[in-house]
Amino acid sequence: MAANGTPADNGTANAMNVGIVGAGIAGLSAGIALRRAGHHVEIYEKSTFKREIGAAILLTPNANRILRLWGFDFDKARPVDFKQYRYVNGTSLEVKDRDSFEGVEERFGARMCAYHRVDLHSGLRELAEKEGATINLGAEAVNVKPEDGNVTLQSGQTVEKDLWILADGCRCPFLETISGEENPTKKIGKSVYRWLAPMEKVLEHPDAKKLWEGEGAGFCTFFEPQAGITMVTYPCRDSTLLNCAVFHETRVEEINALDWNANTTHERVLQALENCHDVVKHIPRTAEQMKVYTVTQRPPSKRIWKGRMLCVGDTVHHMLPTHAQGGCAALEDAAALEVLFGASTISPGAADLAKRLELYTQLRLPRSATTQILSSTNPWLTMDQVAKKTEEIRKFYKGDLVDWPKGLEPWSSPIREFFYGYDVVGDAEEAMKYRYSGKLPESWKWFGEVEKAMDG
Ligand SMILES: Cc1cc2nc3c(=O)[nH]c(=O)nc-3n(C[C@H](O)[C@H](O)[C@H](O)COP(=O)(O)OP(=O)(O)OC[C@H]3O[C@@H](n4cnc5c(N)ncnc54)[C@H](O)[C@@H]3O)c2cc1C
Repeated sequence: MAANGTPADNGTANAMNVGIVGAGIAGLSAGIALRRAGHHVEIYEKSTFKREIGAAILLTPNANRILRLWGFDFDKARPVDFKQYRYVNGTSLEVKDRDSFEGVEERFGARMCAYHRVDLHSGLRELAEKEGATINLGAEAVNVKPEDGNVTLQSGQTVEKDLWILADGCRCPFLETISGEENPTKKIGKSVYRWLAPMEKVLEHPDAKKLWEGEGAGFCTFFEPQAGITMVTYPCRDSTLLNCAVFHETRVEEINALDWNANTTHERVLQALENCHDVVKHIPRTAEQMKVYTVTQRPPSKRIWKGRMLCVGDTVHHMLPTHAQGGCAALEDAAALEVLFGASTISPGAADLAKRLELYTQLRLPRSATTQILSSTNPWLTMDQVAKKTEEIRKFYKGDLVDWPKGLEPWSSPIREFFYGYDVVGDAEEAMKYRYSGKLPESWKWFGEVEKAMDG
């Protein structure tokens, strides 16, 4: 600490020992960010990474911009750039709607591309290790003491750190301890059949060319109104695999399929696609394994830190996949950590840490809460429902709203502006100007004092 009471700019002299619970997108990204910020980082992951998640994930420019900043190896991860979106009648194959993503990269300065989840995860893991983070596998956290900075592992070992990041996903059992409120995840009545189909085999069907020939990579989303089915498909891993997800009403036997590993059968999937064109039904037949996942969501949290612990990623902002923003928001969280918790700017001890945690909350919570609410909207909401959503958003955000109701459409240009154009690093750097007060100014377009806004 300098004599005048302001933190000294002393490089990594104030490096903290940081522990991270969970090595998903949020935990690995936080690890990369906090290493880059100059801290010692140890990650504790309960699994052994042996179960492969056979699914893809789309990252939009707001997230890929962060990966690029970190020197992520895109070539190795083999993502597929999105050029278009098509909405196709699953029975007649008539294209009902389409939109182009040409120009998205130029407009937002980064790619919009889909990864095999394993490729993204492996790339993040390699980067975290390259940056010097230690990853402990088979290390499940079973208890936390936020004020003491202690986490107890399944092995019985208790680990103390200066700062803990809880990134253990949407079913984090510690959230209530941190936030002081019950906020369980809620099922929305929909489940997803999902699989990865080998593109080569998909294209063997005589009618497949009608769907993919001459089309740029991206979404080919089928709808079948009679059964109320939406089947989202898009390619990943150098276009060798087609990621498929059939959203349908949850069946009784799927109610507890809450992780990514529950199996289902081809028969069930084909039953859901009963009224679809044969080429649509051909797609699941090309894949070996069918999985099912029951969709949940949670309203925004009021508090996300306590003592020496901060929640990030799905732990805080579990949302519907409508706009493909859950993983993107986890990357934004990490980018904010890197700026707000730099070892060269933070002072040792509890007082400055508390200020930074509060500043982080003011920066991230209103944005991620707004993202959660927007992710629970759709173009079929009534005007009353839109008004209610607007009211919810106004608890967090006082800036311009995206061109209602056009902005409710997932891939529309207003929604792209809102999500893809968001510069979390720029906002975090701006927020750093207020780090001594620990409070953002009134003019900030996000409501800093979230708890007060939500209670009021
Ligand atoms: C159907 C669907 C499609 C989606 N599509 C997209 C998309 O296209 N784009 C996008 O950006 N987002 C998408 N998302 C959201 C995205 O998948 C999540 O937001 C993201 O994976 C959350 O990452 P996380 O690291 O916070 O949580 P998780 O991925 O859940 O990771 C948590 C990690 O913590 C570990 N863990 C749990 N408990 C403990 C413990 N006690 N101790 C130690 N470790 C523990 C877990 O094993 C896991 O590795 C989608 C979600 C769904 C459901």
